[in-house]
Amino acid sequence: MVNEGHKDNEFKILLVDNMIVAEEKDELKVKLKEIFGYSQFRGNQEVVIRNILSGKNTFVIMPTGAGKSLCYQLPAMIKDGLAIVISPLIALMKNQVDQLNAYGINARFLNSTLSKGEITRLKKECITGAVKLLYVAPESLNKEENIEFLQKVNVSFVAIDEAHCISEWGHDFRPEYRKIKTMIAQLGDMNVIALTATATPKVQIDIQKNLQMEEADVFISSFNRKNLYYEVRPKKETKKQLIRFLKEHKGKSGIIYCLSRKKVEEIAQLINVNGFKAAPYHAGLDPDVRMKNQDDFLNEETDIIVATIAFGMGIDKPDVRFVVHYDVPKSLEGYYQETGRGGRDGLEGVCLMFYSHNDLSKLEKFNKDKPVQERENALVLLQEMEFYAESPVCRRKQLLHYFGEEYKEENCGSCDNCVHPRERFDGTEFVKMAIEATKQTNERFNLTHLVNVIRGTEDEYVKSYGHFDLPIFGKGDQKDADFWKSVIRQTLIYQYLEKDIDNIGV
Ligand code: ADP
Ligand code: ZN
Repeated sequence: MVNEGHKDNEFKILLVDNMIVAEEKDELKVKLKEIFGYSQFRGNQEVVIRNILSGKNTFVIMPTGAGKSLCYQLPAMIKDGLAIVISPLIALMKNQVDQLNAYGINARFLNSTLSKGEITRLKKECITGAVKLLYVAPESLNKEENIEFLQKVNVSFVAIDEAHCISEWGHDFRPEYRKIKTMIAQLGDMNVIALTATATPKVQIDIQKNLQMEEADVFISSFNRKNLYYEVRPKKETKKQLIRFLKEHKGKSGIIYCLSRKKVEEIAQLINVNGFKAAPYHAGLDPDVRMKNQDDFLNEETDIIVATIAFGMGIDKPDVRFVVHYDVPKSLEGYYQETGRGGRDGLEGVCLMFYSHNDLSKLEKFNKDKPVQERENALVLLQEMEFYAESPVCRRKQLLHYFGEEYKEENCGSCDNCVHPRERFDGTEFVKMAIEATKQTNERFNLTHLVNVIRGTEDEYVKSYGHFDLPIFGKGDQKDADFWKSVIRQTLIYQYLEKDIDNIGV
C-alpha cells in the first residue's frame, strides 16, 4: 500500500531506548544491586520493569544479549507470589535456573526431565510460596494436572519468553505456543509479559492478537548493532575465499554456520588442514563430543566453531570477532540472530555471508513436504533473504527496516554496500511508476504482479483482473523484471510504499 505518513496505530508503541535513569528511581536500583549485583539498568530494562510492577501487560522486543531475562526476573523477586516463565527449550531452562540459584534465588523448572517424586515435592514448595520463579514448557503447561496445580498457587504474573514462537508468520513457529492464551486463561485474570528478540511488525501484531494483549504497552529497543560490519559475497570459489578471510582474522574467535551436518564436518576439516584451530558442532555429534567442542570454543582452546544453527542459543561469548554464513540462512530473523553473536563486547564483529541463488532453491526444496500455508510462509521469508542479499541498499538499513525500524543515515560506513557503493542514478521516474502501478491496482497486489503490470506481461492474473487496460500497463517494458523488482523493493525500504501487514506479500 501507499504510505501516507504515520497513521495512528491501533497498538500502542513506546519507543524509548537508552532512557536516562533519573535520581529518584533509586529504590529499584537498590534491589538490582542487592539481588543481581548490577549497578545500572540497561536500555529499556527499567521502564519495562516499572510497567510490569504497575500491573500492566507488557510486550518487550529486545535484541539478543540486551538483557531480556532481567525484565521479568527482577519483578518476580519484588512481587508477591510465583512468576511463571514459559520457555520453549528445556536446555535453556536449566541454564537459567542454575544461574538464578547461584544468585540465591529460588527458581525451579517443571518439565519432562523430572521424576514423579521431584514433581510432587516441587509442587508443594510452590504452593507454600517458597518458589519465586517457575520455568515451564508449553507442553507441560498444557497438562490438566499442572493447570489444576497452578490454580492453587498464588501466581504473580506470566512471562512468555521467545514469544515469536507464537506466530506462524515468523521463522520459528511452535504450534503448542498458540494455545498459551487458553492455558493461562484457566489460571484467572493474569498479567502477561511477552518477550522476544526478533519480531517483524507483522509477527508482533500476530503475537499480540493471539495473546489477546492488543492493549499491552510495547517496548522496542533499537536493533542496530553499530559495531557489526555486514558483507555479502557471491558463492564462488568459496573455500578459497573462506581460507583467505580466515587468514586475515588469524587467531581470532569466530563462528562459521553451514546448513548441513555433512558440510559442517567438511568445512571444519578443511580449516584444520589449513592450519587453523576449528571444531565442528551439530546435533548429530555424540553429546559428549559436542559439549567438549562447545566448551573448548568458550575457553579459547579452539578459535573457530563450524556449526549448524543448532549452535549458539544461550551462548554468551563476548569476543566473537566474526560470523560467517557459508550457506544462505533460511530467514533474516535467523541471520540477524546468528550474526548477533558477533561483537557482544561492542568491539569488532565482521559478518560475512556467501550467497548463491542455488542455496535458496535448495532451501525451498526442503520445504516441499510441509503443509501449503507453512510452505508459503517459508517462501516469503526466503524472498526477503533474496532481496537482502541482492540489493544495493545499505545492509543495516535493510535489516532494521525488516524489523520495523527506520535507519535514517544515508551511509552507515559499516557494510559492503556503503563502503563500496554501486553506481547510483536518479530513479524518481521509476519510483513514480511503481507507486502509480500500486495505486492503479487498488493497493491489493504483490510484487510479482506489479512487475507484470508495469512491464506489460499478460499472465492469467493480469487477464482475470483486466489489468491490461490500466494506463500504467506496459509502460516499463524497456527494463527487465529484476530491475523492476529492485525498484519496488527500494521504494519500500525508502518508505514510499509499505507492506500490508494483514495480507502477506501485498
Ligand atoms: P537476552 O535474553 O536478552 O539475550 P540475557 O538476559 O541473557 O539476554 O542477558 C545477557 C547478559 O547481560 C547476561 O550475562 C546478563 O547477566 C547480563 N545483564 C543483563 N542485565 C544487566 C545489567 N543491567 N547490567 C549488567 N549486566 C546485565
Ligand atoms: Zn550500510
